[in-house]
Amino acid sequence: METLNPLQAAQLQIRDACEKLKADTAVYEILKNPQKSIEVNIPVKMDNGGVNVYTAWRSMHNDALGPYKGGIRFHPGVHGDEVKALSTWMTIKCSIVGLPYGGGKGGICVDPKTLSLGELERLARGYVQATIKLLGEKIDIPAPDVNTNAQIMAWMTDEYCKLVGHSALGVFTGKPVEFGGSRGRTAATGLGVAVTTNEMAKQLGLSLRGSRVLVQGFGNVGSHAALCTESLGGKIISICEWDTIIYNPTGIDCHKLVEYKNANGGSIKGFPDTTEITQDEFWALEAEVLLPCAMENAITNENAKKINVRIIAEGANGPITPEADALLYKKGIAVVPDILANAGGVTVSYFEWCQNLYGYYWSDAEVAEKETRAMVDAFAAVYKVSQKHGVSMRTAAYMYSIERIAQVMKLRGWY
Ligand code: GLU
Repeated sequence: METLNPLQAAQLQIRDACEKLKADTAVYEILKNPQKSIEVNIPVKMDNGGVNVYTAWRSMHNDALGPYKGGIRFHPGVHGDEVKALSTWMTIKCSIVGLPYGGGKGGICVDPKTLSLGELERLARGYVQATIKLLGEKIDIPAPDVNTNAQIMAWMTDEYCKLVGHSALGVFTGKPVEFGGSRGRTAATGLGVAVTTNEMAKQLGLSLRGSRVLVQGFGNVGSHAALCTESLGGKIISICEWDTIIYNPTGIDCHKLVEYKNANGGSIKGFPDTTEITQDEFWALEAEVLLPCAMENAITNENAKKINVRIIAEGANGPITPEADALLYKKGIAVVPDILANAGGVTVSYFEWCQNLYGYYWSDAEVAEKETRAMVDAFAAVYKVSQKHGVSMRTAAYMYSIERIAQVMKLRGWY
């Protein structure tokens, strides 16, 4: 049976890295489950006068390196094990980029498309009311994730500040720039995906210039990954979205596509000069780069067989099942794992938090330059471990990260 439970996938990855590191058994025992997690049920007054109750979670995986950090997603498929897995990946991710954070994650089981703006705001505020005792600038710092954005972070920050009775902008990141957000945060995850893809290409003796790129998912991460890859010379030939897959072998203009999507009710269907292709055709397209930027388990044993690219950089969290990952490794495809490839988002969240705590704000250029340097350095460190131990970039990323966490847990006297 293929491992589709993301918590099991995360635990397998940690156990494998711990074995390779010959780490004390306590390290795996501590890291295999979150330190804390809660499930809450949030009542929301609906516009029609009724009340809907939404189940939500917050998982606080490990705070050895610093306060818990990680996004909150709004999605009908969210469940407790998924949130736990995502919080585990945040612990590993923060350590890879050297951030002073542990991992956390939250989620609400809801399809936000079914809510009015007012209902969405009441749900966002309800989440803060339900979890307030666990949140704080030095305790747990949420951020955007799937289907959450700067406006939702603004409502949540406002609710938190009202409830605690003082300003505390650093309690959420990914806020609007006008309200304590950092410049460059919205594009940050996509920029990091493009930078690490470029670094991988260099190692393979490839150039992104003229490379054919496939993008799965055109939300915040996918659209910015496409735009940034395009600005490094990549040619986006196909984009797979929930309602359509568009294809143009001579390249799709992603700036125009973003405008089109905004003007077209959030859909890329019917974008001029493209043809529509099927899922099977998409996964089998020949290209240099594939960027899965949607959800978990997008690449399974089934479609992994068809994939015909040199590099896969995971913009999404957990888009490849462990079994498909092993198959891609055998096929010689270089995978830049999520915990490295998409770490640009939390890196700029960290910059935002620093700016909030100092009350002193940076320019676009400063943020982009610092993020790019952090991603290039993290890639180089992980690549070095992969070469030294003859392991995949994913295993290397876990090893590099867990070694640091284990060292700090030891210093703190946790084992
Ligand atoms: N949700 C993003 C992630 O999975 C960002 C988290 C953050 O900025 O704290 O990395």
